[in-house]
Amino acid sequence: MAEFEGKSVLVLGGSRGIGAAIVRRFAADGAEVTFTYSGSPEAAETLANETGAKTVRTDSADRDAVIATVRESGPLDVLVVNAGILIFGDALEQDPDAIDRLISINVNAPYHASVEAARSMQEGGRIIVIGSVNGDRMPVPGMAAYALSKSALQGMARGLARDFGPRGITVNVVQPGPIDTDANPADGPMKDLLHGFMAIKRHGRPEEVAGMVSWLAGPEAGFVTGAMHTIDGAFGA
Ligand code: NDP
Repeated sequence: MAEFEGKSVLVLGGSRGIGAAIVRRFAADGAEVTFTYSGSPEAAETLANETGAKTVRTDSADRDAVIATVRESGPLDVLVVNAGILIFGDALEQDPDAIDRLISINVNAPYHASVEAARSMQEGGRIIVIGSVNGDRMPVPGMAAYALSKSALQGMARGLARDFGPRGITVNVVQPGPIDTDANPADGPMKDLLHGFMAIKRHGRPEEVAGMVSWLAGPEAGFVTGAMHTIDGAFGA
């Protein structure tokens, strides 16, 4: 029997990049997968056709829509909150509305989605949020809002692990370093700078992150909670 046969998995932000790799991994392992998307309907449809996953268009900046999607997809065995955005630039010049939108997507949505998922989760439930090594280490200027959003997930996971641990539900953060996606292409202009911080001087692959998510969602990880799991080629070491 496949590892996640009969399990209900919701991935927030699954149309591209790391989220798409997570969708593929759970679908290949037998799960009933639903994923959300916002700006990439064609990528979402292609991935749904490939994997058999269900899709729901839900903007993670819309708190009530996120809560409704989580509620309507439940009860879940696994919630993965992957949707996230990066705004890069001079802190003194950035549009405050854009910063607040980043915080809505990267912080508020993970919090409200996690709480809503936990309402109906059974013992053994798993909540996994995609943070970033930038929650621990921010070695360049221009990314303070992003770093604050990823650090916030650490406190959230520690706290929600306490709230839901007695019910056998775990809450963990996966913290990638540079991963080859549209948001951070392996051949992009930042490549040499990023690899300079790393012991393994390459971008990671979305599938490598999906592998860690899968392990955290599986039966071997029932004692792992309130923790940050960094997968970064030693970017943060
Ligand atoms: P991409 O930009 O390649 O993909 C982002 C995914 O999130 C897409 O599926 C996108 O869907 C979805 N998404 C973004 N905004 C929204 C929104 N408002 N509502 C719903 N879905 C949304 O990013 P990555 O795959 O690189 O990143 C995924 C996660 O990993 C993020 O949280 C990011 O911060 C984190 N991360 C990435 C790293 C990297 O180097 N790539 C490093 C560390 C962390 P759509 O296009 O349909 O809107």
